[in-house]
Amino acid sequence: MPCSDPWKPARIANTAMESGSSHATVAVLVSGGLDSSILLADLLRQGRRVQPLYIRSHLFWEAAELRAVKRFLKALAADGPGLPELVVLDLPVADLYRDHWSVTGREGPDAGSSDDAVYLPGRNVLLLVKAALWCRMHGVSELALGVLGSNPFADATPAFFAAFEACFNRAVGGRLQILRPFASLTKRQVIDRGAGLPLELTFSCIAPVRGLHCGACNKCGERRAVFQAVNARDPTRYAQPCAANPRSGALPPGGNSEPRTLTP
Ligand SMILES: [Zn+2]
Repeated sequence: MPCSDPWKPARIANTAMESGSSHATVAVLVSGGLDSSILLADLLRQGRRVQPLYIRSHLFWEAAELRAVKRFLKALAADGPGLPELVVLDLPVADLYRDHWSVTGREGPDAGSSDDAVYLPGRNVLLLVKAALWCRMHGVSELALGVLGSNPFADATPAFFAAFEACFNRAVGGRLQILRPFASLTKRQVIDRGAGLPLELTFSCIAPVRGLHCGACNKCGERRAVFQAVNARDPTRYAQPCAANPRSGALPPGGNSEPRTLTP
């Protein structure tokens, strides 16, 4: 089958010849969380033209999450060279996930649950398909993700990303590169790169309360543990203060293997 371009892309990027150079647009899949937010800022600091993408699956926490993404991007744009407008792509999953906690918000994994309790079936496949197609149709040949190499899920391994990239490019006759600039970094190193950024505007909660981090869910426990582990002040406003975090001393997926200094 010939690999002729079936689209006349609505190009936002520079020419394909510039792809991969510091002048080419790199799309960044943002989730509002620490890793993807810091990655986006990091690429901006490197002088890259960055196009933020957000996939909206209408999950329970996404209204609060999307508001946070917009606030964070607004703060970055005000403090830097500016950013293209956030692209929001809809990918509803309620018909697949049905009464799962990610849709209903009921009985989701709490702060004491294990890392794999927040696994969502096919999450990265779904996110990547839509984001990669957007890139293909807009002449963008790099898609950056904020995943860390130690992420334990099967759809976050180097083998998965390599296979997906090859399969996708074969399917659409493209040459998209999926970048994981933080793949070799520890969580501590990622947080260090976030120094000076408005991390209070990032968001990582699956059960928000009045738009705030709930303070009691798996992701809030993970977030607290991260700041504790790197001895950094947690700038997050939690709806429910937590005197004892059950995940203290344990970094989340994508955590690190370095010795940790915990706060008392
Ligand atoms: Zn929470």
